[in-house]
Amino acid sequence: MNLLNADLHCHSVVSDGTLEPEVLAQRAKAGGVELWALTDHDEIGGLPRAIEAAHEWSLDMLTGVEISVTFAGTTVHIVGLGFDAGNQALADGLAATRGGRAERAQEMSDELAKVGIRDAYEGALRYVGNPALISRTHFARYIVETGVCADTHEVFRRYLAEGKPGFVPHRWAKLGDAVHWITQAGGTAVIAHPARYAFTPTEEYALFTEFIAHGGRGLEVVTSSHSAADQRKYADMAVEFGMLASRGSDFHSPGESRTELGSLPPLDGRLEPVWETLQDRVLRA
Ligand code: AMP
Ligand code: MN
Ligand code: MN
Ligand code: MN
Repeated sequence: MNLLNADLHCHSVVSDGTLEPEVLAQRAKAGGVELWALTDHDEIGGLPRAIEAAHEWSLDMLTGVEISVTFAGTTVHIVGLGFDAGNQALADGLAATRGGRAERAQEMSDELAKVGIRDAYEGALRYVGNPALISRTHFARYIVETGVCADTHEVFRRYLAEGKPGFVPHRWAKLGDAVHWITQAGGTAVIAHPARYAFTPTEEYALFTEFIAHGGRGLEVVTSSHSAADQRKYADMAVEFGMLASRGSDFHSPGESRTELGSLPPLDGRLEPVWETLQDRVLRA
């Protein structure tokens, strides 16, 4: 089971990816993925198209989403897997989480203008596939277009990461709410890319214990932004906290993502894969 090529984290044009859900399904299949999930940010509107395409490509899949949460003043991402996509409380929670993105984007644009990057809101909008989901990634693509930076990673480093000139603090969903939206819809909640958060060990411990207390069960151990050392650290923590382990590339775009769908290392044999407990939620091809 640990050797199943599961890739349970990626993005389409419905959030900040550059490929259509159908194209991602085909790409996952071509990459050898055996169990797939589309996890757009704060939005499940791409799922019906993804499910239909996965069926056409004989690819097993789970429903998915990646919810933006604010915990201890930091943005944390919670992946939901295997939920009922028709659940109303989940839909309402996601709609509330998406709200405020347009206003934040306008403020980002104003801040970027102060450091000489003009018309960033209009520029970013040209990269947006879903008007309800303008994100920093769309700004990054526009700023690359202007020639100020060579790639989107440089844009984040210089302009969009926390503390940089174009960063506008934002209050996302509460941890307990996000976990509850997922679990009451029959899904499993997973802490995404834990190595990406700048938490102290005490804050990280608080995140894990509160997440579990709210009913969260999973930890993304293997993902493209984790080094080998990160994978070992979070594999150990998954065992220590009795969490289910997940694996997902976080693929966004052929030009930007360093890791292809289906090409991650396998989960450590000590870990219990999240997909073992989601067998009855798999949409079989
Ligand atoms: P937002 O939800 O608008 O705050 O945008 C967050 C998205 O920005 C993440 O999901 C990533 O796709 C992207 N992102 C964040 N940090 C970086 C980075 N350092 N390099 C490239 N993309 C990043
Ligand atoms: Mn993203
Ligand atoms: Mn994320
Ligand atoms: Mn992601």
